[in-house]
Amino acid sequence: MITLDRPGVETTIREAALDAGSDGCLVCSSAYGPSKLPGLKCCTECGFITADMALSDDELSALYGEDYFHGNEYRNYVSEEVSLKDNFRRRLRTLHELIPDLRERRVFEIGCAYGFFLDEVKGDVAAASGIDISADATRYARDVKHVDAITGNYSDYVTPPGIGFVAMWDTIEHLPRPDLFIEKAAQDIDKGGYIAVTTGDIASLNARMRGKHWRMIHPPTHLHYFSVDTLSKLLDRHGFDVVHVSHPGNARDLRSILHFVLDLRLGWGGLYRRIAGWRIFNMSLSMNLFDIMFIVARRRDT
Ligand SMILES: [Zn+2]
Repeated sequence: MITLDRPGVETTIREAALDAGSDGCLVCSSAYGPSKLPGLKCCTECGFITADMALSDDELSALYGEDYFHGNEYRNYVSEEVSLKDNFRRRLRTLHELIPDLRERRVFEIGCAYGFFLDEVKGDVAAASGIDISADATRYARDVKHVDAITGNYSDYVTPPGIGFVAMWDTIEHLPRPDLFIEKAAQDIDKGGYIAVTTGDIASLNARMRGKHWRMIHPPTHLHYFSVDTLSKLLDRHGFDVVHVSHPGNARDLRSILHFVLDLRLGWGGLYRRIAGWRIFNMSLSMNLFDIMFIVARRRDT
């Protein structure tokens, strides 16, 4: 969730894509108007906020290369396995309470990255597989974590039948057309099946206080800024009933927080590199700014 707005691939893509967006709100199909947040648009009807950019598969692959997980968005995603899995375990506890037969369901993850969630859940459900556009990440998931991770775009993927649960962890904000992904998920999930989504909540107190400086606002990697209301509307439009909404905390290792603050925000990379090896920064810290939402929805039977 931490990014570096550096010149290079992101800037090139931003310039190419800024005026190439869709022409209607992807939540309610109404027109976009200006937003109070510079560079973003806001739906005149439902209030959905978006960068409204169109990105090709090639542009997406360029964005989510190895650099994304090692220095751009994440200091080193692989070294954060412990804290990431801690977050997944906490979400799974909530999911087991909501879905008593989760253990009997086939699980599919959209945006599975390095396979840490699949690794956490695979022994505990009927089957677990996932897809991600990052070839580097999915190779690691297969070779090192030994999970069923496919390289590709979910839009073109023929999902195996019998999926009873779909996870989209911190993924929906990255997708050029999340409405099409939710529409496809509704077709792929069995009736009575579930989808779980985490993403930033732009209507949260912290997001409203931070305004344009909210840490989640950074197109073109984050393209869309949902609220509980707009994400619930999108899910409802595609046949889902929301059954759970919460704003859980997230664990991050202290070294990553230090990297974000010193190197990326303050530009003090020299200081960061001098002290990053200190053992105290091996600790992980659980933070909750109540601006990341966790929504679970059930596919309607009809
Ligand atoms: Zn709208």
